[in-house]
Amino acid sequence: MALEDAAKDVDGAFTRRTLKGMSSEATYAGATSFLRRRYSKDLGGVDLAITGIPFDCATTNRPGARLGPRALREASALQVYDAPYGWDVNPMCDLAMVDYGDLAFDYGKVADVPAQIEAHIAEILAADVAVLTLGGDHSISHPVLRAHAGKWGPLSLLQFDAHSDTWVDDDVTRIDHGTMFYKAVKEGVVVPARSAQLGIRTVNEDTLGVHIIDAPEIHAARADEIAARVKGIIGDNPVYVSFDIDALDPAFAPGTGTPVSGGLSSAQALAILRALKGINIVGMDVVEVSPPYDPSGATAIAGAHVAMELLCLWASRRRARR
Ligand code: MN
Ligand code: MN
Repeated sequence: MALEDAAKDVDGAFTRRTLKGMSSEATYAGATSFLRRRYSKDLGGVDLAITGIPFDCATTNRPGARLGPRALREASALQVYDAPYGWDVNPMCDLAMVDYGDLAFDYGKVADVPAQIEAHIAEILAADVAVLTLGGDHSISHPVLRAHAGKWGPLSLLQFDAHSDTWVDDDVTRIDHGTMFYKAVKEGVVVPARSAQLGIRTVNEDTLGVHIIDAPEIHAARADEIAARVKGIIGDNPVYVSFDIDALDPAFAPGTGTPVSGGLSSAQALAILRALKGINIVGMDVVEVSPPYDPSGATAIAGAHVAMELLCLWASRRRARR
């Protein structure tokens, strides 16, 4: 972009006139939205909406993920200057996108929140608009998955995480970021035999039949080999991709609630995501970014880049469908 254009865009989060295109707005200034998309509840002509779920009441250790959506929006501002590296699609130019804002809920009525999340996502999907959800702790992915399964039927889950989040929990009233995928499998929302968890490095003997590709396996293999295994597991099933930022090593993503050493580098994660091009991705989230534990902003930067890769996967599959 020519430098003389750099002063033309201001506060695109509110003033942007088109749903597509890059931005020349100063990355360090102005009102932030995800990728400088316009904040809007109008889903007419929209391909994909980004929404935040600022909920972190289900964490087992350090909180702070309620501040994740805001940090991811800010970190994304630098990505609007250039097309994503290593792709032949550019979501910012190829997709009509809006920032749908955050879900509003009463922090004092925690038990009501999952149903509100599900309704919020279902409302967007009902307009035939896809969703990128920004967390929030990982418990939010359960109602988001339910909404997607309501549209697409039982889904393959592709989960990047240090933890399986399938620990036994038969109390349906509990909201826990370590047990929601146990419930999703038991409900039939997720098909375990066609699902995979990548980056696991915590012990949970009962996999529920989900395919595990743990962190040591990923370190011992090339990204394209891992992606090929994943494709063999999920096939052409509709797949929901949930990226818990603690899949990354704390060296790359310290700002998260339950960090575990020995994780993926950001480079490994991005390489695997790029090699997954072609999967039938129907929904996606980035969760567990906790800005209070992220003094350098590295975690939010990693999360924003992962989100861009997920958008590229979706844009790539959409183009192939046409
Ligand atoms: Mn985790
Ligand atoms: Mn998780």
